[in-house]
Amino acid sequence: MYPTSDVVVIGGGIIGSAAAFFIANDPDFDGKVTVIEKDNSYQSSSTTLSAASIRQQFSTPENIKISQYGIEFLRNLRENLALSDGSQSDVDLDIGLQEKGYLLLASTAGEGILRNNNKVQKELGAEISLLSPTQLGDRFPWMNCDDLSLGSLENKGEGWFDAYNLIR
Ligand SMILES: Cc1cc2nc3c(=O)[nH]c(=O)nc-3n(C[C@H](O)[C@H](O)[C@H](O)COP(=O)(O)OP(=O)(O)OC[C@H]3O[C@@H](n4cnc5c(N)ncnc54)[C@H](O)[C@@H]3O)c2cc1C
Repeated sequence: MYPTSDVVVIGGGIIGSAAAFFIANDPDFDGKVTVIEKDNSYQSSSTTLSAASIRQQFSTPENIKISQYGIEFLRNLRENLALSDGSQSDVDLDIGLQEKGYLLLASTAGEGILRNNNKVQKELGAEISLLSPTQLGDRFPWMNCDDLSLGSLENKGEGWFDAYNLIR
């Protein structure tokens, strides 16, 4: 007799793992989910090879909203990954989330794009500052700002974390 499952996810990287997690936690779903991963070391998965950074600074509402959801999920990881009886998992859930922000820079040619993106981001509540070259120089004295027109920086909701530990 072969084992059976209602949903089989092939590949347990961050996308497969997240799909399995959210399907399994859907109150309308009471089936069995199985994830099949060919290499549990994850040594050649994009997830563990990535910089594991998260940012809000995108140009489309869809991407921004996905990231807003994502950062909240990561901030509350212990609660979100609690076991179904409410107890904490014995897996180490410290993913070392560092909310240090992304700095995007534009020359004259890219300034309009950065301003337009900023408008969309602000409409969705992302707290992102636009910085003039003078403000950039004050904030980052080591940076040559001579050929810059504008910078875009968020200090909350952006940063990096330990993707390997998240996937575990
Ligand atoms: C260098 C680099 C830097 C990046 N930096 C960032 C970043 O800072 N921020 C960001 O958001 N994104 C970043 N990304 C993108 C991000 O890493 C990927 O979008 C994401 O990890 C993709 O996840 P995934 O689960 O689809 O793929 P993967 O993590 O590659 O997972 C796919 C899994 O499927 C398994 N698999 C494949 N075939 C089979 C099979 N036949 N049977 C069973 N298992 C199988 C593999 O072993 C693997 O574990 C970066 C990517 C790279 C490469």
